[in-house]
Amino acid sequence: MVLVFAESPNGQLKKSSFEAVTYGKKTADQLGVDCIALVLGSQVKDAAALGAYGAAKVLHANDASLDQLDSQTYTDAIAEIAQKQGATVVILAHSSTGKSIAGRLSVKLNAGLISGANSLPVINGTQLMVKKPVFSGKAFAEIALSSPIKIISLMGNAVKPENIGGTATVETVVVTVAKSRIKIKSVKRQEGTVPLPEAEVVVSAGRGMKGPENWGIVEELATEMNATTACSRPVADSHWRPHHEHVGQTGIAIRPNLYIAIGISGAIQHLAGVNTSKVIVVINKDPEAPFFKAADYGVVGDLFEIVPRLTAAYKKFKATR
Ligand SMILES: Cc1cc2nc3c(=O)[nH]c(=O)nc-3n(C[C@H](O)[C@H](O)[C@H](O)COP(=O)(O)OP(=O)(O)OC[C@H]3O[C@@H](n4cnc5c(N)ncnc54)[C@H](O)[C@@H]3O)c2cc1C
Repeated sequence: MVLVFAESPNGQLKKSSFEAVTYGKKTADQLGVDCIALVLGSQVKDAAALGAYGAAKVLHANDASLDQLDSQTYTDAIAEIAQKQGATVVILAHSSTGKSIAGRLSVKLNAGLISGANSLPVINGTQLMVKKPVFSGKAFAEIALSSPIKIISLMGNAVKPENIGGTATVETVVVTVAKSRIKIKSVKRQEGTVPLPEAEVVVSAGRGMKGPENWGIVEELATEMNATTACSRPVADSHWRPHHEHVGQTGIAIRPNLYIAIGISGAIQHLAGVNTSKVIVVINKDPEAPFFKAADYGVVGDLFEIVPRLTAAYKKFKATR
């Protein structure tokens, strides 16, 4: 069977968990086996909802010592369930949590791992062939997994969660949880906007903004579009914007449905983190800016004139809907 680890920080299932279950169901269908989801912790709400996305059953390790992420205890719990249930494929999201677990799990289960897959596996005999972007998104690698247990971590937004209307029973399972070596003293959550890796619309700006005092027009557009804000690296390095907004090779890699780049040149290191976005819109006064080569739509002009006009046009469009 295919086992999908569904993340539920603070008890709430994440969008990436629904994506992972959709991916798990499609993989399981190809293999002719069941897709079973696993949730960890005592606060998980509405785990049965994963049934609508293709989980035949949800296993719930209802243990308060799994309420906070500790990648070592999480790895132990997932490995134990995978072995007990005879999983042949384990799927998790390529999130910060997934990244901290996947490698450990691979060692623990002696399983081949593909991290950051963005397409469905293709079955080739006993192998699973999975495609993933490499060299900062400049190429794709097709990797064959041939170990008895295979692990895939799935890029955010790589598949659309599909509500297929199924139902799942939730079964409580017991796992042996070793005492955590980590003591969490406090948790600070970023409230309000959707976190960048999960955002469907991202409004991002660069050094063309001239200074932090000008970000009002970017924020206004983002608020109108219900988008998350991002920035280029020099902007974060100059403390114009917080570091968690920095996207690119050394920042966060994202794959939103829409990425609007304002006053960003499109250096290769920036593109590495955003060029798999589904639609890219570039606003730049320099018609030779490299970003235009990666753009689906481009506007050549002064951002200080264009961005407010775009916001006004979007407001008008919203009012007519
Ligand atoms: C090892 C390494 C890793 C790196 N990692 C990253 C990374 O993860 N992310 C990242 O972003 N960068 C990264 N960089 C830096 C990267 O090479 C670029 O220097 C950076 O992306 C440039 O940022 P920018 O486009 O905001 O600024 P600039 O290159 O200064 O571009 C500003 C753009 O704004 C335009 N502009 C100016 N005024 C206006 C206006 N009024 N209206 C419209 N357009 C205007 C200009 O035409 C220009 O294209 C890395 C570099 C190295 C060496």
